[in-house]
Amino acid sequence: MSDLKLPHNKTFSKYSLSWKELHFIKKNVKKHEFVCWFRARYDFIICYHGCCPKDVAQYYQNGFLPSDFPKTMQAFQGLLTEVGYHFPYDISDVLKIYQGKTNRFVYVILDEEDFIDQASHYIIYGSETMLSLAQNVSPSLKSYLRNIGIPTVFHLKIPLGKITDGELLNLYEQIRCSNGTMEQRRFQIFSNYTIIIEPSLDADCIVGHYHPTDLLYDQHAKQQYQNKTTFCSICAP
Ligand SMILES: [Zn+2]
Repeated sequence: MSDLKLPHNKTFSKYSLSWKELHFIKKNVKKHEFVCWFRARYDFIICYHGCCPKDVAQYYQNGFLPSDFPKTMQAFQGLLTEVGYHFPYDISDVLKIYQGKTNRFVYVILDEEDFIDQASHYIIYGSETMLSLAQNVSPSLKSYLRNIGIPTVFHLKIPLGKITDGELLNLYEQIRCSNGTMEQRRFQIFSNYTIIIEPSLDADCIVGHYHPTDLLYDQHAKQQYQNKTTFCSICAP
C-alpha cells in the first residue's frame, strides 16, 4: 500500500477531506489496515461540541468533563430555587438512564451543522442530563433552561490519541459506504456522527467557538428558537 502524495495537512475534517483522498481510501486502504494508515496519515480530527453555558470561560479553564452527578444535582436544586418550584418530585430513574454514559464520557460530533438542523437541543438547553431532569419535573423548568445560558458551538482539534480504534473503524465504514456527489458524501460521512471521548478533553483542543443565531426548530417546545446573544466574555470585541 503506497501512501497518497498530498500537501502536508495532518488534520482530518469534513471541510478538508478531498475527493482524491476519499477515493484513495476506498480503493487502496483495506479495513484491517485503516486504523494504522489513518493514525500515520493524520494527527488530529476536527470535531464540535455544542452546549449552553452561563460561563463560556469555564471551558477555557477546565476543558470538557463528563457530568459529575452530585454537582448536576446541586445545579438542579439551584434551578428549582431560582424558579420557585417547591413541589415534591421523583427523579430517581433519570440519573439511572445516564449512569455510565454522560457521567463517563464527553460527546463530540463531526459536523457542526447538526447543531443547527438535527440536534439543536444541545445549544438551546445545554446538558442533556439537566434537560431530562427538568423534563421529568415540570415544563416550567424546561422553559427556564431555554432562556438561560449562551448557545455555543466549540470547534475542537482533537489529537488522534484521544480517539479509539473502534471510532476510527466506524469512520472507515462511513467512508466506504458513501456515494453520490462530494457534497452528498460529506453529509453521509460526517453528519449525525458522534464520537465518544473518555475521560475528558483538555482546553488546548479548543480552536474557537461561536454563538449561532440561525433560526432553529426547538423539538421540545415545538416552536422556533433564535439566539440573540452573539458574544460572551471570551469573544467580546
Ligand atoms: Zn463567545
